[in-house]
Amino acid sequence: AVKAAGRGSYRFFEQGMDATMQARRTLEIDLRKAIIEKQFEVYYQPLMNIKAGIVIGFEALLRWNHPQRGLVPPGDFIPLAEETGLIIPIGRWVLNQACKDASTWPGRIGVAVNVSPIQLGSPTLVEDVSAALQSSGLASDRLEIEITETVMLDDTEGTLIILHKLRDLGLSISMDDFGTGYSSLNSLRRFPFSKVKIDRSFIEGLGTGQECNAIVTAVTDLCETLGMITLAEGVETEEQLRQLQIGVCVEAQGYLFSKARPAADIAALCLLLSQPSGTVAAH
Ligand code: C2E
Ligand code: MG
Ligand code: MG
Ligand code: MG
Repeated sequence: AVKAAGRGSYRFFEQGMDATMQARRTLEIDLRKAIIEKQFEVYYQPLMNIKAGIVIGFEALLRWNHPQRGLVPPGDFIPLAEETGLIIPIGRWVLNQACKDASTWPGRIGVAVNVSPIQLGSPTLVEDVSAALQSSGLASDRLEIEITETVMLDDTEGTLIILHKLRDLGLSISMDDFGTGYSSLNSLRRFPFSKVKIDRSFIEGLGTGQECNAIVTAVTDLCETLGMITLAEGVETEEQLRQLQIGVCVEAQGYLFSKARPAADIAALCLLLSQPSGTVAAH
């Protein structure tokens, strides 16, 4: 195809590749600097028990305050961090920061940290998690680790061993974005999950037809039978919440309750979201 396009096109194509490579290289250099120069920040999004109307925890979501580009969303740099292996030190930093922040939160409020497949393949992950718990003093049952099911596609045996070692530390493991990957049901059977987070794409359609309601109900029933709880991701509207509240799924997360906020806002968020009447305040 390159030859057929002729000499001019070929050179253009080559230059195009060059610019892409250059942009990646710049981003990689910036990413290396980001930890040292403290440009990362962990934001927190509330996880709700919608039956009780209380905040049960927060998901840690990484934010990058780039000196020139401003706030860079994780989708724009996590893939490169994974390719370059930089996700290992970055992920370690997130774990430490999240445990440290959560150790100051009231009561039993927990924290959920996303762990990349690359981190799961790292020989130091279990030590890293253990060290983050130790140095923060956070009780291990207040930490939850979120992994996506793509993790399970390769090295199943190795992954199982790591997940059990993590569980032995006393924390719990959630499957993130359930329903978007390949081996969902097989993964539910094989891996030691405590919670399944139902992907936003199924929550979007709640109340608009029978399909999404049926899927959320069936997944929740199945998970309950298998000893797991479910959480509905990406709840944005009162109608979606209403549909969930008449259904069986107990936990939810989404912009309806709050977007991810800096650690300094946690106390205020807890007050705002945990109404004495037991209803959830949307804002
Ligand atoms: P995720 O783990 O599935 O996190 C949920 C994402 O959905 C977050 O995007 C959150 O801001 C967004 N979200 C929450 N509620 C709603 C809603 O009601 N509507 C919509 N449209 N979106 C909602 P975010 O923060 O941009 O993160 C994207 C992904 O980046 C995460 O998806 C996770 O896979 C990854 N990520 C974020 N932080 C980390 C991290 O510290 N380590 C690793 N390895 N991955 C991370
Ligand atoms: Mg997540
Ligand atoms: Mg998710
Ligand atoms: Mg996601």
